[in-house]
Amino acid sequence: MKTSTDTPGPDSGDQSQRFLFEQADIRGERAHLDAAYREILAIHQYASGVSRLLGEFLAAAALLSSNLKFEGKLVLQVRSEGQVPLLMVECDDALQVRGIARGAELAISEDFDQLLHNGQLAITIDPTNGQRYQGIVPLEQGSLALSLDNYFRHSEQLNTRIWLAADGERAGGLLLQQLPAQLSPDEALRQQQWEHVCALAATVKGDELLALRSEELLYRLFHEDPLRLFEPAAIRFQCSCSRERTRNALATLDPAEIVELLEDLGSITMECEFCNQEYRFERADLTDILQGHAGKVLH
Ligand SMILES: [Zn+2]
Repeated sequence: MKTSTDTPGPDSGDQSQRFLFEQADIRGERAHLDAAYREILAIHQYASGVSRLLGEFLAAAALLSSNLKFEGKLVLQVRSEGQVPLLMVECDDALQVRGIARGAELAISEDFDQLLHNGQLAITIDPTNGQRYQGIVPLEQGSLALSLDNYFRHSEQLNTRIWLAADGERAGGLLLQQLPAQLSPDEALRQQQWEHVCALAATVKGDELLALRSEELLYRLFHEDPLRLFEPAAIRFQCSCSRERTRNALATLDPAEIVELLEDLGSITMECEFCNQEYRFERADLTDILQGHAGKVLH
């Protein structure tokens, strides 16, 4: 139990920090979630295995969204035959995150493969203006980080490695990515530099990803390699739902169905599954959606 006399432990808060290796064409990103992660968990009642899973996905979304060069969002969505049939997290270009594990009420396992058995992860990059891009990643090897590593190894994209950890209170992650040749045009040297920093990063422990400040973590891992650290950016929990979006979703239903609901209930209440926000619509709010069905309303 936490009391006011507790000494605050090392804490990276909710933030993502970019860094560059000064002597190699490699960039990195270190993400840490704290209150934002706990706010998301507080909305639902998840068992500890599911909470940890959600934390790793949130950290991964924050790391991968560091590549977004435009207004938009990155979505990670898994469908599986395991105890968690659907898990979804989003992170937008302003590092606003939200996430949910749907149908996971009975998920009690702590095991990745049992929770997400035969899972298929869709990574969607969804620009506000422009073409959506989607990649599919089979979840395997018992971890999200290894599945993502595998995906990047077999895709045409830049070499990328990811490390993740979450404990139900905090979530953390580290990403390394090789950049197009600029400092080191020699392919053998590039490969050697990449393997060198990956070997150092691979020594990272879950506890370190969760508990250390970015500077401390990066110093511990790469103290012989000069790094340039950028200003950290804040990550926060912010649901993107709104009354207007909910109303738009309602407008896709069969108007006859809406009329029936209004007649039965007097009004329609829609609840956002990410944040539990309720949106209530009276008949007067839906007049335009129901146009052409007015006759039926009057009957
Ligand atoms: Zn919401």
